[in-house]
Amino acid sequence: MSNRKTVDISKEEIQEQKEYIDNIKELIKGRSLKYHIITYGCQMNIHDSEKLAGMLNSMGYTETSDQAEADLILFNTCCVRENAEHRVYGNVGALYLNKQQNPNLIIGICGCMMQQRDVSDYITKKFPFVDLIFGTHNLHRFPKLLLEAMDSRQTVVEVLDEEGRIVENVPIIRNLGVTAWTTIMYGCDNFCSYCIVPYVRGRERSRQPSDILDEINQLAEEGYKEVTLLGQNVNSYGKDFNEPYYFSNLLRYIDRVDGIERIRFMTSHPKDLSKDLILAMAESEKVCEHLHLPIQSGSNRILKQMNRGYSRENYLELVNEIRHQIPNIAITTDIIVGFPGETEEDFADTLDMVEKVRYDSAFTFIYSQRTGTPAAKMSKQIDENIKKERLQKLMDVQGKISKEINDKAHDTIVDVLVEGLSKKRDDMYTGRTPQNKLVNFAADHNTIGNIVKVKITQPKTWTLEGIMI
Ligand code: SF4
Repeated sequence: MSNRKTVDISKEEIQEQKEYIDNIKELIKGRSLKYHIITYGCQMNIHDSEKLAGMLNSMGYTETSDQAEADLILFNTCCVRENAEHRVYGNVGALYLNKQQNPNLIIGICGCMMQQRDVSDYITKKFPFVDLIFGTHNLHRFPKLLLEAMDSRQTVVEVLDEEGRIVENVPIIRNLGVTAWTTIMYGCDNFCSYCIVPYVRGRERSRQPSDILDEINQLAEEGYKEVTLLGQNVNSYGKDFNEPYYFSNLLRYIDRVDGIERIRFMTSHPKDLSKDLILAMAESEKVCEHLHLPIQSGSNRILKQMNRGYSRENYLELVNEIRHQIPNIAITTDIIVGFPGETEEDFADTLDMVEKVRYDSAFTFIYSQRTGTPAAKMSKQIDENIKKERLQKLMDVQGKISKEINDKAHDTIVDVLVEGLSKKRDDMYTGRTPQNKLVNFAADHNTIGNIVKVKITQPKTWTLEGIMI
C-alpha cells in the first residue's frame, strides 16, 4: 500500500501502454527500423532517454549512432540554459531536408523544454515537419503517442501540466554494464531564484522504497556493481510521504542489497542534509566517500538572493561535520558566477569559500538569464566580460586546489571499480575510486566490473593515472 500523498499511474494505464508497444511491434515486424536519441542536460534526462530507448527496443527498433540512417530521431531536451534551447532549434531546423528526402522519418521532441507551453507552441508553428511533441510528465505515454504520430499527418502534441504521478515498470535500456542510475524522486520544491526546474519538472514526488529496492535488486542480478540514486534534491526524499521516511533510511536499506558494491547519489541540497544522513553514510559499507554539495555562491547576500536557504556559516559547519564523520570524503560542488548584483566583494567571498572548503573539484558556471525565473527579472545583471573574468579566476583557484589534492594520491594504492577501456588509450582501463576520481591504468587482463587495486603513478588535475597491482 502506498504511503505517498501522490498516486501511481494505474496498472490499467501501464497495461494500455504495453499494448501500444505490442501494436507497434506488430506494425514494424520484418522491417529493420532504427532510432537515434539526442539527449541534452543532466543525468535525470540521460536516464529518461534510457527509458525511451527501453520502450523503443521493446517495440523492435534498434539503436543507431548515425543520425543519417535513423527512421526515428528523438530530441530529449533540457531548458536549464537558454542557449541550449537555441541549439535545439538549430538542430531540429537542420532536419527539414532529411524529412523532405525521407517523408517516413519520424522526428520527436520531448523533455523539459516542451513543458513550457510557449516553446512547444513555437516549435509546432516554426517546424511543422516535427511529428511528435511531449513533455516530462507523460514520458510513459510515448508508445501511444508514437503510434498516433505514425498515423497522423499533423504534429501530435501532448504536454501535461499534471504532475504527482509516478510510473513504475517502464523498460529501461542502460548503456553501461557496471554502473547504473536509478531515479528515486522527481521534481523539486526549492525554487532557487535562477532555476527553471520546479516549473517544468513539478513538485517533489518520491518513489516507494519497495519499488526502488526491487529495481536495485534487479540491477544487482543483472551484474551491475554500482548504483547512483538520482533526484533534484535527494535529501528531500520521503518528505511527500504521509508517514515519516527519510533518505537516510533508504540508504541503509540499499546498503544491504547483495551484489551492489557501491552506492552514490546526487544532488544533495545543503539545507536538507541531515546529521542522520551523514551518520548513515559513515556507517554504511557501500556508500561512497564522495558528496556533491552545491554551494552556488560563497556570499551570504547572494545566497539569499538565490533563495538557497543556508548561509556560508551553515555550509562550513556541515562540511566540518561531514569531514569529522567521514575523514576520507571527497567534496565537490557547483558554483555560479555573475549572479545579478554580484559585487567584487561577493565574488571574493566565493573564492574564500573555495579556499576554505578545498573542494576536490567544482562545476563552475556563468550565470545566464533564464526566462521565467525571478532572477531573470532582477536588476544589476552583470556584464558578460566581468562574468568571464570571474569564471577564469575561479577555475584557476579550483584547478590549483584539485591538483594539490590529487598530488597527495601519488604512490598511494586506491580501489578502482573498473568501468571499461579508456576512451583515449585502448591499452588502458578506466574506473573510479570511492571518492569519484577517474583513474586510467594499465592492466594485463580484462578487469571490467571488478574492484582492483591501482598504484597511482601520475596524478593530474582532474584525473589520476596508475598501474594495477
Ligand atoms: S534545488 Fe534549486 S537549483 Fe536544484 S533543481 Fe531545485 S530549484 Fe533548481
